[in-house]
Amino acid sequence: MSGSTGRHRVLIVGGGTAGITVAARLRRAGVTDVALIEPSNTHYYQPMWTLVGGGRAPVEPTARPEQDVLPRGVRWYRDAAVEIDPDAHTVGLAGGGRVAYDFLVVAPGLQLRWDAVPGLERTLGRGGVSSNYSYDFAPATWNFIRNLRSGTAVFTMPSTPVKCGGAPMKIAFLAADYWHRTGVARDIRIVLAFGASALFRVAAYLPALEAAVERYGLDLRLSTELVEVRPERRQAVLHELAAGATGGTGGMTELDYDFMHVTPPQQAPDWIRSGPLAGADDPGGYVTVDPATLRHNRYPDVFALGDVAGLPTSKTGAAIRKQAPVVVANLLALLDGREPRARYDGYTACPIVTARDRMVLAEFDYALQPRPSIPVIDTTRARRDMYLLKRYGLPAFYWNLMLRGLGS
Ligand SMILES: Cc1cc2nc3c(=O)[nH]c(=O)nc-3n(C[C@H](O)[C@H](O)[C@H](O)COP(=O)(O)OP(=O)(O)OC[C@H]3O[C@@H](n4cnc5c(N)ncnc54)[C@H](O)[C@@H]3O)c2cc1C
Repeated sequence: MSGSTGRHRVLIVGGGTAGITVAARLRRAGVTDVALIEPSNTHYYQPMWTLVGGGRAPVEPTARPEQDVLPRGVRWYRDAAVEIDPDAHTVGLAGGGRVAYDFLVVAPGLQLRWDAVPGLERTLGRGGVSSNYSYDFAPATWNFIRNLRSGTAVFTMPSTPVKCGGAPMKIAFLAADYWHRTGVARDIRIVLAFGASALFRVAAYLPALEAAVERYGLDLRLSTELVEVRPERRQAVLHELAAGATGGTGGMTELDYDFMHVTPPQQAPDWIRSGPLAGADDPGGYVTVDPATLRHNRYPDVFALGDVAGLPTSKTGAAIRKQAPVVVANLLALLDGREPRARYDGYTACPIVTARDRMVLAEFDYALQPRPSIPVIDTTRARRDMYLLKRYGLPAFYWNLMLRGLGS
């Protein structure tokens, strides 16, 4: 198959949060020849899936046609990139075409490895197992939560980096809050099997989160990850990681569940992992970039941002809000023959819902220091106004400003 061909001043791989935000900002800055490779006809606002799973929002408004968010004047290759040749300045497409670029922005997100946990795929969405990490299964989370009256509920998080590190915890808090409000909590044991060695990495926000764990009586098992699901017996196999902070033994534990919310292991897409842009010493295979300029460490005409970028910060849409202006400023400088001087400081934000109408807004940088956007508000404690921001303010900001290249 011959497929599409073309050549562009700036080519973007991926039309998700990062790709669309960068495309919109480039167009606003007057760059005329921008193209984007994106195979999906649908664009998702993933942060809302936590509230969908918690019964606090419908799933349908989280999806919009890709065509509607694509900035005017951007050429869309409706195809998947399968290979990047940074020496030849080309990107190969699944349909057989090849697109050339002067500058490349890599933003295809990450790959969810449902298959890395044996038994998981065949029970997802059925038999009491669900995941908010998918448009298809987030509604099932709420169905299971509201129908559970007794038994064991398990919430997992792998030891790999995940998008929005707080998401596995938020859904546990939302579920626990619901079971407390409906009077069934005393008959439900809630186990958190988290691969991380700490509940949260930024000390300032820990007290509010630990207080929620205590209040709901959660059985928190750190350095413990799900390695197998046995759907027939409704049994989870947990691996206690040997080097964990809890002094684990490296042993396996079997745990019967009535409901389980799974956060799957995550890594860079296979074709990125095995390609020339991946970091040599990164087991996740993410694109190696300078943490400040977001420029590739070996190929100066390539930038990466969003979930696919190998950056030592939490992978969130909020981080992209700060990364995109840096990538665009640096691209504009290069297009203009100047040195790229814009710098990203690692800003990311994790809105951690601790109850049906309460939220802690964790905002921090590479140094794990709090970086509050509104310093006069104490967001280290659970607040109702922050919940309203997440439920209504942030989605409006996302669709109406961020994806249109506005706001910062
Ligand atoms: C349950 C959940 C809760 C979350 N909560 C929050 C939150 O509260 N706050 C927050 O800020 N963030 C949150 N996030 C994270 C946030 O959604 C992501 O960090 C963000 O969407 C990443 O943007 P991205 O552009 O890197 O990837 P994505 O938005 O995932 O987009 C990647 C795009 O690349 C496309 N693509 C894939 N493969 C190819 C290919 N081969 N060629 C071309 N295109 C390709 C995909 O189709 C997709 O459109 C959450 C995520 C989840 C799943």
